[in-house]
This record gives sequence, structure tokens and C-alpha cells, in this order.
Amino acid sequence: MEKSIFTRIMDGEIPARIEYEDELVIVIHDIAPKAPTHLLIIPRKPIPTLMDVSEEDLPLIGHIHKVAQLLAKKLEVKGFRLINNCGKEGGQEVFHIHYHFLAGF
Ligand code: AMP
Repeated sequence: MEKSIFTRIMDGEIPARIEYEDELVIVIHDIAPKAPTHLLIIPRKPIPTLMDVSEEDLPLIGHIHKVAQLLAKKLEVKGFRLINNCGKEGGQEVFHIHYHFLAGF
């Protein structure tokens, strides 16, 4: 399977502004921000879409929500939107699951 652009960022092949990373996820600033703060929370595991999430991935999905909490505290934002675009018809462009963290409206 061809590497996604996000895997290439994780492998250091493409530069990105990294806000946070741990053993399960990386958080980068979106290259085309739709809000004053627009981050992407990306699991290291290259799951193509939300529809491909399996039972064994559920702790990872929970972890993403913990990371959203952590980002809100770190960036001192009072509220945020956490968005997943699923599938082409759902507006997904990069087929490596990720959650948009938008704040500062
Ligand atoms: P989606 O439409 O949900 O698949 O969102 C993909 C997001 O990835 C878009 O908001 C793009 O602006 C963003 N994006 C694409 N390439 C890069 C990149 N090299 N660095 C940071 N963000 C990117």
C-alpha cells in the first residue's frame, strides 16, 4: 500500500509543524487552516477511514479524545470542534484517519 502523506510526515520525508506527539499519535498544524487554530490529530496506525476502525482500535479512538483534552489545556482554548471527515462523500481527502481540532473562532 502506498504511504499516505501523513505517514510520510511521520517518517520525516515531508516537513510539518508538529504540536504534539506520543507513541500512538502525532498532531500537526493543518497546511490550509480553516480556523485560527487548526490541528490534525493523526494516529500512527494508517487506518484509511472511520469505517475501517475495528474493535481493537477503540482504545486508540479514545486516546484521540484524551489528546484533544490535552491540546485544549496546552493551548488554553475554552472550546473546540473535533471533526472527522469519513469517505470521499464525507469530504475526506487524505485516506489516513485523522481528526480536525478547530479552535479560536
Ligand atoms: P480531510 O479532507 O479530512 O481528509 O483533511 C485533510 C487535511 O489535511 C486538509 O485540511 C489539508 O489542508 C491537510 N493537509 C494536506 N496536506 C498536508 C500537509 N502536508 N501538512 C499539513 N496538513 C495537510
